[in-house]
Amino acid sequence: MEESVKKLTAETIASISACKTVSELNDVRVKTLGKSGALTALLKGMKDVPPEKRPAAGKIVNDARETLEQAVSERQKALENEELLRKLSEERIDITIDSPLKNHGGLHPLSIMRNRIEEFFCSLGFVIADSPEIETDYYNFEALNIPADHPAREMQDTFFITENILLRSQTSSGQIRMMEKVKPPIKMLSPGRVFRSDEADATHSPVFHQVEGLVVDKGITMCDLKGILDLFAKKFFSNETKTRFRPSYFPFTEPSVEVDASCGKCGGKGCNVCKGTGWIEIMGAGMVNRNVLKNCGINPDEYTGFAFGCGLDRITNIIYGISDARIPFENDLRFLKQFN
Ligand SMILES: [Zn+2]
Repeated sequence: MEESVKKLTAETIASISACKTVSELNDVRVKTLGKSGALTALLKGMKDVPPEKRPAAGKIVNDARETLEQAVSERQKALENEELLRKLSEERIDITIDSPLKNHGGLHPLSIMRNRIEEFFCSLGFVIADSPEIETDYYNFEALNIPADHPAREMQDTFFITENILLRSQTSSGQIRMMEKVKPPIKMLSPGRVFRSDEADATHSPVFHQVEGLVVDKGITMCDLKGILDLFAKKFFSNETKTRFRPSYFPFTEPSVEVDASCGKCGGKGCNVCKGTGWIEIMGAGMVNRNVLKNCGINPDEYTGFAFGCGLDRITNIIYGISDARIPFENDLRFLKQFN
């Protein structure tokens, strides 16, 4: 009995060490220690052992079981560890390998144009001033010389949140905030989103972008306005581009003008881009209304200023030849990739 247990133990330990996988090890364990295993069979044979020798024989078998169980458990841990290391090395990610993905994003044409315009005006000494998109009636209308009963309010369909709070319909509100805070000289540019309750079509959108400029100082005249906008048109269209002012009306400027640039496509002869006129409207402008200066605590007898505002979407569409204002917002990669 003792001899067979020793032999079985030695053989099993050899098989355990030889196991290469956890499943092989499991087979060995079942073969020896399982219900119909070899060691269990020896234990069952105990009934043939004379009673006085049974306790000693039982101990031998139980010791052997303990030894084998421990050997299985140690081997199992070792195998699991080996398996983990093998998996880790097989599944290792080489972070130095080039990614096959070569698509990178790029700036949206509106962002490109906004950056270019900001860069241009900053080079002339303007500062960029952000202001809130949610405004009060005062900053969006009242302070800009558009009181509650003013017919100019009907020129714009405004998104009101409450009677007094609204989504700004123009970036001019930023000019008021600046003039309230800073004493002239002021040279500022306020680019940003504005909101009007328009249906989206080829030329309208409920959300669009404006870039407004304001200069206030002693002795500022319309010549300064013309000079800067002329330079702007030459920079953004071509060296041959001319500008012209047409009389217009805005409540916050007096006099007010519409600014046209000569058509770059036909050079002024008339074509489909300029609708046969030779000119393309690029922005509105004018000398800051005395009332607006007064509203901001600036003495209009001492200071004068000019302001201009253009639709960033419009300028972008003219420069890139985009015929429908909705296209830049459709997220069509075929369109967007042309600007990378
Ligand atoms: Zn033309």
